[in-house]
Amino acid sequence: MKPETKILKDRFGRVHDYVRISVTDKCNLRCVYCMPEEGLPFFPDDKVLSGHEIIQMVENFAAMGVKKIRLTGGEPLLRQDIEEIITGIAEIPEIEDISVTTNGLALVKKAEKLYQAGLNRLNISLDTFDPVSYKTMTRGGQLQRVLNGIEVASQLPFDKIKINTVIINGQNDHEMVDFLKYSIDHDVNVRFIEFMPISQENKADWAKQYMGIEQVFDICDMQGWKVEAIDLAGNGPSDNYKIIGGKGSFGLIHPISCNFCESCNRLRVTADGCVKSCLYWDEEDSVREEIADFSAFEEKIQTILGTKPENHEMALAEADKVKDKKPTWRHMSQIGG
Ligand code: SAM
Ligand code: SF4
Repeated sequence: MKPETKILKDRFGRVHDYVRISVTDKCNLRCVYCMPEEGLPFFPDDKVLSGHEIIQMVENFAAMGVKKIRLTGGEPLLRQDIEEIITGIAEIPEIEDISVTTNGLALVKKAEKLYQAGLNRLNISLDTFDPVSYKTMTRGGQLQRVLNGIEVASQLPFDKIKINTVIINGQNDHEMVDFLKYSIDHDVNVRFIEFMPISQENKADWAKQYMGIEQVFDICDMQGWKVEAIDLAGNGPSDNYKIIGGKGSFGLIHPISCNFCESCNRLRVTADGCVKSCLYWDEEDSVREEIADFSAFEEKIQTILGTKPENHEMALAEADKVKDKKPTWRHMSQIGG
């Protein structure tokens, strides 16, 4: 018998209806803000959740009030069964929205298949329009492949495509104006993201490379562009704006300078089946053993949700004050963002 639908609410009253699942920790890039230069040892295949386990887990979450699923990685499109996973999730009636975050390298080949499988939305990561800088920031990636991927995906009837752009001081901040121009010329939502100190061993180095992203408004002023705030449905923690007359829009995700934890509605599942209640801190627990037993799964999720902190205090000064918790040992590629 199908379990009765429950709601996942934490001790601060936040309702959780969104789950991000990292379907693999493998990646074909090593972006400077995400992975160490020497790369990371990937989990052995048997440590990674199978497609069947992922779908069954989403069925469990759906019975607990979850409506939105994001598949991420590592690079999710490296999974051979990504379309089957999406199809399985799309067949779960309670799930209203399935999205993927990808580096875009495989989109020319895969975008159509993903759409046919039932994918609603795509976030494509792109931090620069300069091929040399792209190669440097991703440690080897080819910019043109991503641009071609965006072009192919744009021809398909996905809900609005989002471009994720992490801003690194001294590396790509001078390109914010180009990304704003891109949002004028293309019907996409460019999301400027602050560089987060996840697994950045040298906090001083991170602090030097971190910068706020509020300067977008000065850039718009300098270009003579008028900006209006807009409401983009299902847009989580980003504040959204539009340059008047442009085809697309832009958003700001500023977890450091503008802590938005009070509206956090998400849980994260790592490729090895651990659920994290907060991106930053190290609390997590494996749910793999419980996937096939709904009651045990629900009990475990409620326990994990019970550990969810009020906020991530990710900013350097704040995090250093917190003595009773440790930042996660995982790199961003092992969580999914
Ligand atoms: N490989 C896919 C991709 O790059 O889109 C999905 C996984 S990646 C970890 C998810 C998102 O996290 C990407 O948009 C990436 O730019 C972002 N990200 C990774 N490390 C970050 C960091 N230290 N601070 C902010 N965003 C980060
Ligand atoms: Fe890979 Fe995405 Fe991390 Fe870049 S940001 S290394 S593409 S997981």
